[in-house]
Amino acid sequence: MKQSVTQILDFFKKHKYGRMSLVLLLIGLVAFGAVLSRAKPPEKPIPLSQVASAITAGKVAKVEDSQDSGITTIYYKDGKQSRTRRDQTAPFLEQMQLLGVSNSQLPKLHYEIVETSTLTGEKTMNVFVSVAMLGLLGFAMFRLTGGPMAGIRKKYTEGDVPNLTFHDVAGIDESREELVDIVTFLKDNSLYERMGARMPRGVLLVGDPGTGKTLLAKAIAGEAGVPFFTTSGSEFVEVFVGVGASRVRSLFKKARAKAPCIIFIDEIDAAGRKRNAGGGGSEMEQDQTLNQLLVEMDGFAATDGVVVIGATNRVDVLDPALTRPGRFDRHVNVPRPDVKGRLEILKVHVKDRRLAPDVNLMDVAKSTPGLVGADLASIINEAAILAVRREHDVITVQDFQEAVEKNLTGSVQQKSRVMKEDERRTIAYHEAGHAVVMHVTPHSDPVYKITIIPRGQMGGFTMSLPEQDRLLMSKNQILARITGLMGGRVAEELFCDDITSGASSDLKVATQLAEEMVMRLGMSVTGLRVFNQPEGFEALSSPRAGQKTFEALDEAINHILDECYNEAKRIVTEKREAMERVTQSLLLQETLTREEFVALM
Ligand code: ADP
Ligand code: ZN
Repeated sequence: MKQSVTQILDFFKKHKYGRMSLVLLLIGLVAFGAVLSRAKPPEKPIPLSQVASAITAGKVAKVEDSQDSGITTIYYKDGKQSRTRRDQTAPFLEQMQLLGVSNSQLPKLHYEIVETSTLTGEKTMNVFVSVAMLGLLGFAMFRLTGGPMAGIRKKYTEGDVPNLTFHDVAGIDESREELVDIVTFLKDNSLYERMGARMPRGVLLVGDPGTGKTLLAKAIAGEAGVPFFTTSGSEFVEVFVGVGASRVRSLFKKARAKAPCIIFIDEIDAAGRKRNAGGGGSEMEQDQTLNQLLVEMDGFAATDGVVVIGATNRVDVLDPALTRPGRFDRHVNVPRPDVKGRLEILKVHVKDRRLAPDVNLMDVAKSTPGLVGADLASIINEAAILAVRREHDVITVQDFQEAVEKNLTGSVQQKSRVMKEDERRTIAYHEAGHAVVMHVTPHSDPVYKITIIPRGQMGGFTMSLPEQDRLLMSKNQILARITGLMGGRVAEELFCDDITSGASSDLKVATQLAEEMVMRLGMSVTGLRVFNQPEGFEALSSPRAGQKTFEALDEAINHILDECYNEAKRIVTEKREAMERVTQSLLLQETLTREEFVALM
């Protein structure tokens, strides 16, 4: 026995990465231990629908939701409990609503968001084990990758000046540019004072998770050399009424003492959701937190030098009070990077690693459409780990390929993000269709930008901007807009094997516009009478319109949509070659500026 142990140790000593493997082995052992210590019989999650009916039946006392893991614990009034797994991409309450829990019941529900670690309710020992594992893992990675990992250069404590600059943020130049003046302001606010200029107190960074919002906020503080305070909206959502509010208060107090500085509030939507009338429990708590936040933000002068940066991926759910002037009144989009952006991000993250000479980062960038900075950082890390495991001196092409594959097939959430090649093609044709039709149609707004990078629910988008601000819209302009909207679907029909759901919002807007023209603007054969109460199509069922009128309106709306559709079809057919050129460039570059687009036409 003793002999074999010595042999093993010898083996590790002889080997080049021997010590590393030893560390890995240790990690393995600790992880194994952790698994054992957790190995109490796992409860089987119950279906969400069962939870919904329990809520409807009034049997549920409390719901604890861990937003990042999607595991939700249900406490019943009779003392029992169970777990369920919710769709991670949608809020629990919304899912309950969809499953039939009525609007009057939701506010009565004691709903609470908790950190994953507290959710399991397990003991300190586990926490200790996890921390130890993380520590070991961190140490191992540090050693493995031959250098400090970008992003965690230094242990960071609250109120420190981050050791990061804009050089660490890549591929989102436009967002960065919009924030440069905040750095200037934090460095020397007397400059602004003298000019009588008011700095925004609150900046909202809007973008999907992992696009670099936290990084950006830290980099601002790092560039300006000011302390950085951070918290997350989900930390405010507490059991006891008033806890969230008092946390906000103490955070602002600490920060104000160190001004100029930055306060970063991640997931601000967790604390700042639109308020509902009535409600209780966590709703009330959330109200208090939100109120406190508003009070604090109103309480300091613009010259105090405290800038609050909030991050969210959904502005639409925020309480309007938060986005009023003087609060979070500047919004900066942090988009998913395009292929060039991804290349830049990869470059930042390989800085301290050794790569095989034939590794082409552009190839990596091309193979990762739709991924964000956080994904790319983890791909590089994974590649480095694979290289070590295979005892390479450098990270090879193969390591990269595997790391990419692993990332793409990793979590469900990411899988749904990455576009399949044929999907990308369809989106490219769709967007090219919009752009080409808009470009050719007289009275249409000029195309400003086209992209096939997904944003929220949209696969891509084509942006047009009016040349001047407009007070009025003419009939021809509205028709041109409807025609442009039809371009996407038409392109799918003519260039792809099948049509997709991608046009649904286009068609919705087009229909609304056509209805407006007919029912409110007197712009069709049906005459000048306005049918706007109630609005939209519901007007048709109102007794004020007789059967004949009903049919005439119906027909007029269809007529407009058909005409515009036919016009779009004519254009796309005629401009087949331009369509191909634009589509191919989009597939290659992912984003086209106005100039690039016009050159292709
Ligand atoms: P968010 O706050 O938007 O969810 P983070 O800023 O926390 O995203 O990003 C997580 C990590 O991903 C960062 O620490 C960094 O290592 C990497 N990352 C994300 N975006 C970028 C970027 N634009 N440039 C360089 N690294 C990035
Ligand atoms: Zn479209």
